Amino acid sequence: MSGAGKVYLVGAGPGDPKLITVKGLECLQKADVVVYDRLANPELLAYAPETAERIYCGKLPDHHTMRQESINEVLAEKALEGKIVVRLKGGDPCVFGRAGEEAEHLAGRGVAFEIVPGVTAGIAASAYAGIPVTHRDHGSSFAVVTGHLREDKPELAVEKWRALASGIDTVAFYMGVANLPLIRTQLIKHGRDAETPVAVISWGTLPKQAVVTGTLANIEERLAENSHVTNPAIILVGDVVKMREKINWFEATLGVNDSLAE
Ligand code: SAH
Repeated sequence: MSGAGKVYLVGAGPGDPKLITVKGLECLQKADVVVYDRLANPELLAYAPETAERIYCGKLPDHHTMRQESINEVLAEKALEGKIVVRLKGGDPCVFGRAGEEAEHLAGRGVAFEIVPGVTAGIAASAYAGIPVTHRDHGSSFAVVTGHLREDKPELAVEKWRALASGIDTVAFYMGVANLPLIRTQLIKHGRDAETPVAVISWGTLPKQAVVTGTLANIEERLAENSHVTNPAIILVGDVVKMREKINWFEATLGVNDSLAE
């Protein structure tokens, strides 16, 4: 090996393995090392050479996750050994994917890297649920927000809630299922109409995709009635959710029972 290793921070896409980019696939095909997490579809690993080292660094139930510092270190060390390293992440690596931290570490160590964007779950799971995140009639702005909210900065939070409640048409909350009661309460409290449509989309783009729809007022009950809708899930808030009634194309192709039919 020439010593010119490199790290590719690659978006695996939201679940459907075909939603990886051509560039991402090419990176996998030439990888010496693949470092992957829980939400990157494991089927994609088949595209890496058989000889490639595979390192899992995602969460295991009741187990520790590999610490971010250790991941950063593994990426740098393997590349400094002259290897082509693919860091494969679910969705887009820069959307709640820590690619920024990893790239910063690599830059600091003088390791060459590239970021290969991916299709993020907030957009893709929504599209596969028959919901376009923008629409000329129903939504001209779109925000991605972590639902893993920090309680330690209440003032900041108020500003944020105000903006999300009244300034943005479509909001996709990632990692938000556990905080759904808080999310819907805060949005209503800060001025969003309680009748605003909401969809909770779990395992979007995969055959096991499951969706529940409702309104800010009743989405908690609707979710409780549909216990098969679990993490990972996107909570999508906004009038665009109504489009699902007309263009719910993906579940139709699966012959899946639509748990949402009213
Ligand atoms: N980088 C990823 C997001 C990682 S954060 C991306 O761009 O998509 C993890 C969160 O992403 C989950 O808690 C969930 O909210 C969302 N998510 C990831 N895959 C998903 C899927 N297939 N369906 C629904 N939500 C998903």
